[in-house]
Amino acid sequence: MSDHPFNGDLVSSAYQQALEVIASVEPRVAEATRQELADQRASLKLIASENYASPAVLLTMGSWFSDKYAEGTVGHRFYAGCQNVDTVEALAAEHARELFGSEYAYVQPHSGIDANLTAYWAILAHRVESPWLANAGVKSMNDLSEADWEKLRHEFGNQRLLGMSLDAGGHLTHGFRPNISGKMFHQQQYGTDPETGLVDYDALRAKAKEFKPLILVAGYSAYPRRLNFAKMREIADEVGATLMVDMAHFAGLVAGKVFTGDEDPIPFAHVVTSTSHKSLRGPRGGFILATEEYAPSVDRGCPMVLGGPLPHVMAAKAVAFAEARTPEFRSYAQAIADNAHALADGLMKRDTRLVTDGTDNHIVLLDVSSFGLTGRQAESALLEAGVVTNRNSVPADPNGAWYTSGIRVGTPALTSRGFGAAEFDVVAELIVEVLRNTQPGTTSAGAPSKASYVLADGVADKVRAASAELLDKHPLYPGLDLS
Ligand SMILES: *Cc1c(COP(=O)(O)O)cnc(C)c1O
Repeated sequence: MSDHPFNGDLVSSAYQQALEVIASVEPRVAEATRQELADQRASLKLIASENYASPAVLLTMGSWFSDKYAEGTVGHRFYAGCQNVDTVEALAAEHARELFGSEYAYVQPHSGIDANLTAYWAILAHRVESPWLANAGVKSMNDLSEADWEKLRHEFGNQRLLGMSLDAGGHLTHGFRPNISGKMFHQQQYGTDPETGLVDYDALRAKAKEFKPLILVAGYSAYPRRLNFAKMREIADEVGATLMVDMAHFAGLVAGKVFTGDEDPIPFAHVVTSTSHKSLRGPRGGFILATEEYAPSVDRGCPMVLGGPLPHVMAAKAVAFAEARTPEFRSYAQAIADNAHALADGLMKRDTRLVTDGTDNHIVLLDVSSFGLTGRQAESALLEAGVVTNRNSVPADPNGAWYTSGIRVGTPALTSRGFGAAEFDVVAELIVEVLRNTQPGTTSAGAPSKASYVLADGVADKVRAASAELLDKHPLYPGLDLS
């Protein structure tokens, strides 16, 4: 049983006909589209950032809204004829405000990274540019002398950002040097306690007091625990920082009211950024929530950072946010967290070491060094057995960011297929079965390798058969028939 209720006949005929139209121009694209559904149906998807959007969300994206330019904001466009784009953008923003209880929502960012870049520049505009212009006694940047403009540009380039390090579970956009965020800001990073793997708020406070960032970023892609945003805000206030929470990964748990009180970022953050396609289960895209204070700056995302929005995706965001406001979505979000617990327990009782010894969100991070494997070897062996995960660094990873020592798994996608705690216990058993039967391999010259591996004969087939049984019991998009 999947929890997307839809009329199978209707959706089947919609897609059969759409694929026929596509095939009349380029049959190989239609074929790849069919094959992608078959592959997704047949794989045990444990990638923590992926999900399955509803047919309503997917169908909304395939329309002529894609053909429209709509730079600007609702009711204030640089192009003519945007009345219908206005309708869907306003709806998406309204649903987002109501869903999350935020004062303001901006739904134009095309992705999570776009949302973060837009938010960073909005914070810089609010905190650096506006006071600077007021100080210079001018209304707009265009009124500045060339010399003052150079000084302001220099100011932009010297602001400080404090974010979670990549190997502790942070995201590239939180100040990682190779990313633009590490170059546009003078950045420092906070990690997790090497013993517990948890964020140490006292250490973070001490670091913030010493570094005095303009922006404190909270949020993660690979941290298996909830954060205390009340504490984060306290720290931000103590040092005069703007608190930005990037909830890209866990937005579904916020929307579904699994994260409440101090764990709900909206009451505490000045600015919240997100994706719409991970645990929130919407179309691939980004969005920003903000307080009234920051709203006017965020609203200038176009032309500050963005070009034309994607109206077909904004329309799909409106549909997805409407879905997320239902009681069914709340049950779904709770099941994501319950299932992650079951998966973590299932792994630990089979002697798998987990970073932080468990989870209280949707992510489980395995330290596979106890199996004598690198993350790369474990990821490949699991994939050979049809279990789709991704390798990930663990705190202070001895194998670096490429080979790693960890495997990250998440529950949002399989929970959308209707998997429950009992199925996730079987998933834990299958993962451990593969890891126990995998040995590190050697290079062609016979030296130890961090990449090659040897999976014992018969294990892949056995695990594939067991997963197929689970997947058949919980079909993806049941009733959707493309034959
Ligand atoms: C996934 C993710 C992003 C980036 O999202 P994209 O849509 O891939 O650009 C940003 N921040 C965090 C914390 C993420 O997990």
